[in-house]
Amino acid sequence: MAQYDYLIVGAGLWGSVFAHEATKRGKKCLVIDRRKHTGGNTYCENMEGINVHKYGAHIFHTNDKDIWDYVNSFVEFNRYTNSPVANYNGELYNLPFNMNTFYQLWKVRTPEEAKAKIQEQVKEAGITDPKNLEEQAISLVGIDIYEKLIKGYTEKQWGRKATELPDFIIKRLPVRFTYDNNYFNDKYQGIPIGGYNKLTEGLLEGIEVRLDTDFFANREELSALAETVVYTGQIDEYFNFSHGSLEYRSLRFDNQLLDQENYQGNAVINYTDAETPFTRIIEHKHFEFGTQPKTVITHEYPSEWTTGAEPYYPVNDDKNTAVFSQYKELAANENNVIFGGRLAEYRYYDMHQVIGSALKKVRVHFGE
Ligand code: FAD
Repeated sequence: MAQYDYLIVGAGLWGSVFAHEATKRGKKCLVIDRRKHTGGNTYCENMEGINVHKYGAHIFHTNDKDIWDYVNSFVEFNRYTNSPVANYNGELYNLPFNMNTFYQLWKVRTPEEAKAKIQEQVKEAGITDPKNLEEQAISLVGIDIYEKLIKGYTEKQWGRKATELPDFIIKRLPVRFTYDNNYFNDKYQGIPIGGYNKLTEGLLEGIEVRLDTDFFANREELSALAETVVYTGQIDEYFNFSHGSLEYRSLRFDNQLLDQENYQGNAVINYTDAETPFTRIIEHKHFEFGTQPKTVITHEYPSEWTTGAEPYYPVNDDKNTAVFSQYKELAANENNVIFGGRLAEYRYYDMHQVIGSALKKVRVHFGE
């Protein structure tokens, strides 16, 4: 008889929620991760008392009170409000696009003036049938916002010209006619007090975890330990890349510890011109209102993904969607394996969505 009910591959949020919920239902779980830590991409490294978001800045936000209460039952969240600033060749603009931005761009003071300005620019561009991302963006918000706040950032992010990117990437562009720099519209947002590691530590409390343990280094032996495998790694890797590799966009993070208290006065500053090679500078202490004497900043550089690099953003174009559907079919025929999470489902999930997805899977699996 197997030693465990579940072998959970991946100690990210999806795997940790599943492990927690299965344990709560009296099941015995073993969680493994190939990394040296739990938490997956939400993991923070402590530098000089500052929680550094090692795999990119993470801000929790949701409209779902149940999910908000769920995460707060493991660790209390602060009220951090994401209000990024854009730096375009040294000019500063508030994001998301709101009355502050419109004042900074055109010195307009009322919603009526701002609306008229956008409409005038959209009309001037005269694009009725957008054929690429550039045309789509201009047809939605006009030339100024596009040129200063969208073009450079998007081109760096995707490594391609906006005229070569499909229009569907931008379905709509949120424009807000109030003086409100809150990036998210969700009712709840914040950062765990003391960092994200507290969240996964809470979820995994009392559960056996083996780190530095790659499922594929010992697949047969590890699978034999449990009745069911819960797999949250890359789906193409699970099937030995038999239908080819799924593609991702990756990021490179350059962390610096600075001997000063406050570098940029905000957690997130986007660099929206085309020339600056990075897309953002993150100053981590501001997520938790830190008062440490030093600070840690991270320059974020988008990069092409090559095998071995961290797979961050799935490229959900036609080609990759077709490849994924082949893997999905194989997954449906696997016995005693549950697939879940951003890598196994090859989709971008925010944290609240990944938690919601794991909770849903648990309910279905346990017939509740
Ligand atoms: P992961 O966190 O990737 O966990 C999967 C785990 O499986 C990893 O730890 C990996 O090491 C392990 N694993 C994989 N293969 C194996 C194997 N063979 N053997 C053993 N272990 C294995 N969401 C928000 O809500 N707000 C944000 O601001 C936000 N910012 C983000 C910024 C970036 C740059 C990125 C990439 C994502 C961001 N997200 C954000 C999304 C968030 O990171 C995800 O929703 C969440 O982390 C996904 O959890 P997961 O468990 O599915 O995957």
